[in-house]
Amino acid sequence: MTYSNKKYNAIAEGKLKLDKRFCRKCLTEGFSDKEYYKTISNYISNIPEELKTPEDIYAARLESCSKCQYLMNGLCRLCGCFVEIRAASIKNYCPNKIPYW
Ligand code: SF4
Repeated sequence: MTYSNKKYNAIAEGKLKLDKRFCRKCLTEGFSDKEYYKTISNYISNIPEELKTPEDIYAARLESCSKCQYLMNGLCRLCGCFVEIRAASIKNYCPNKIPYW
């Protein structure tokens, strides 16, 4: 969700309450590991081919993530993304100050 500058300023000044938003992570509560993996795999398989990271680059990205201090339970602690999803889009990059990929 994005806000206009006027709305953002009103929120910052406490004149307007932030809209309630669903935490999508909560929606997966109760998923088994298998269901969780399936959801991520489905998401990745629905990325249009022209936006998808080529397999060799994808594998290299995940190799970097797998050795990274910021990886925790499949999430990058710097950006909060699922690394398998983040790495799957060619336009994405590692959020580290000196990017690993
Ligand atoms: S995206 Fe970058 S910072 Fe995040 S876990 Fe992967 S290598 Fe580490």
